[in-house]
Amino acid sequence: MSKQLGVDLGTSNTLIYVKGKGIVLREPSVVVTDRQHRKALAVGEEAKKMLGKTPGTIEAQFPLKDGVIADFDVTARMLSSFFSKIHAGGIISQPSVLICVPQGVTEVERRAVEDATYEAGARKVALIPEPVAAAIGSGLKIDGPRGSMIVNLGGGSTEVAVLSLEGIVVSSSTKIAGNQFDEAIVQYMKDEHQVLIGKATAEALKKNVGSVHASADIGELEIRGNDLRTGLAAELSVTSAEVRRAVAGPVGQIIEVIRRTLASTPPELSADILNYGIMLAGGGALLRGLPKLISEQTGVRVTVAKQPLESVVRGLGRLIEGGTDFGYEFRAR
Ligand code: ADP
Ligand code: MG
Repeated sequence: MSKQLGVDLGTSNTLIYVKGKGIVLREPSVVVTDRQHRKALAVGEEAKKMLGKTPGTIEAQFPLKDGVIADFDVTARMLSSFFSKIHAGGIISQPSVLICVPQGVTEVERRAVEDATYEAGARKVALIPEPVAAAIGSGLKIDGPRGSMIVNLGGGSTEVAVLSLEGIVVSSSTKIAGNQFDEAIVQYMKDEHQVLIGKATAEALKKNVGSVHASADIGELEIRGNDLRTGLAAELSVTSAEVRRAVAGPVGQIIEVIRRTLASTPPELSADILNYGIMLAGGGALLRGLPKLISEQTGVRVTVAKQPLESVVRGLGRLIEGGTDFGYEFRAR
């Protein structure tokens, strides 16, 4: 049996939609490999738990970086494991896969996504631009002569695009995204508290008490790290206001990209964006206070997509269910 799948191969998370079934897989894009035999020992959720805790003989890694494939073999291995995982449920074999690529990647990077998908067992592959999938999955109507702006803030990259008549009119992307927020939090803890924390702790701070607008502050979180002066374990509590200070730099840079994209949008389309607002998708959209901050700094209303972590895969789902004919074509290798 051959089936159609939609795959959102993200830097942080991979999601898979099966035609007629809906979303069947949501897993972190992480693989644990045996250094000697180059074998995948664990993938997804299970592998993410091992990050930063592996002995020298095995390696836990995110095979994508900044929105693109950084390690081809490991990416193919990860996709292949995900395909088998859903196949074990009796769903697919030799699927036709609709997969998205970030806007603005090079031909070589596009090709790597396509090849890794074949390598993982796909019989046919079709590519579409990620902002298009994100926009459709966020519920934007992009088939008419009306401008919409989508901001997809993921873990490894942020894409800003203005769409009209099913096409991308203007777009920009930056490597500044959720991972940079985590890194900024690690740096802040070093500078301000002389405490070294891991990335997972930084991410927990961001998700649990992170806020980028004072009106969205929610309190504090108790965390652990290593005191850089004594080398001993340290415990301290961190407030929303501190996390806000920590991430102010990268957040400001993302807003600057949005402002520049708005400034280079043709006037008729900017008028539409002023009317209908900006749609915010991707996991970063969940950062407290972000819609408000973007709105204050651009003068444009901001809406957060209903389930921002799923916008892209939902868009792919809409496309393969045939709701919209977007002119993509499945091709065999
Ligand atoms: P990608 O498409 O790059 O895989 P995602 O859209 O899956 O990225 O988003 C992952 C990013 O969203 C990560 O940086 C993660 O820390 C961040 N994220 C997830 N949930 C939240 C939350 N509640 N608050 C802030 N950031 C979040
Ligand atoms: Mg994404």
